[in-house]
Amino acid sequence: MLESVKHIILVLSGKGGVGKSTVSTQLALTLVEKGYKVGILDVDLCGPSIPYLLQLEGNDVHQADEGWVPVYTDQTQNLAVMSIGFLLNNRNSAVVWRGPKKTAMVKQFLSDVCWGEIDYLIIDTPPGTSDEHITVMENLKGVKCDGAVIVTTPQEMSVEDVRKEITFCKKTGIAIIGLIENMSGFVCPHCTECTNIFSQGGGKSLADLAGVSYLGSLPIDPRVGELLGKACVKELPESPSAKAFGQIVDLIIK
Ligand code: ADP
Repeated sequence: MLESVKHIILVLSGKGGVGKSTVSTQLALTLVEKGYKVGILDVDLCGPSIPYLLQLEGNDVHQADEGWVPVYTDQTQNLAVMSIGFLLNNRNSAVVWRGPKKTAMVKQFLSDVCWGEIDYLIIDTPPGTSDEHITVMENLKGVKCDGAVIVTTPQEMSVEDVRKEITFCKKTGIAIIGLIENMSGFVCPHCTECTNIFSQGGGKSLADLAGVSYLGSLPIDPRVGELLGKACVKELPESPSAKAFGQIVDLIIK
């Protein structure tokens, strides 16, 4: 039930492993730190990592008269989470489904979850542009969706990869909020200095070239990968990662 959701943000990436789910969870946790009520919908049916990243594995989704009750990260109920991971017997179970079954599941996720009055719903999608994406886009028609955030890395920062995502958004009528370059530079865990191990500025020039907004770059920070369920803006306030996340979230919600 998306009627009571004020803002919907999709998180997309051209490839897997670029940090899309990490960005989705840190976006959600940063928004919670800013005082918003937030939901995360994990529609990555074949690789649901949100329950792990939020340390919620083993939780069950309950069926109420109105629909599915999401899993909450804590008693404040400020962060609600829905993922196929909660419906599988164990983390290693694989979803081996053809398109129509995946489509039905995503539709149900979009129509049957009781999110309640939340400010932001972050939808973490699988890499690429597959059945799940088309179903999400089709089912968001008529619902207020702010748009998509595209996550990429310097290594795969080819114009073509990002352009495919942009073309997909344009074809399906989804606005593009902007581009995030993840794993840009490395934050030393000892001195917290950030070293640019790849060339700098690629994300910005690519965004300019493609005509989309550039939201910022996030460094490789081993501590962020280990935070699991905790917001880097709260746990590592002085880190370059926290500063970057804070600025990116400000740009997204402005
Ligand atoms: P995707 O959702 O794109 O497949 P994940 O978010 O699962 O990618 O990230 C892949 C791996 O990279 C994970 O182990 C995650 O902890 C790590 N990772 C992602 N972004 C960062 C970052 N900025 N700093 C350190 N590790 C990161």
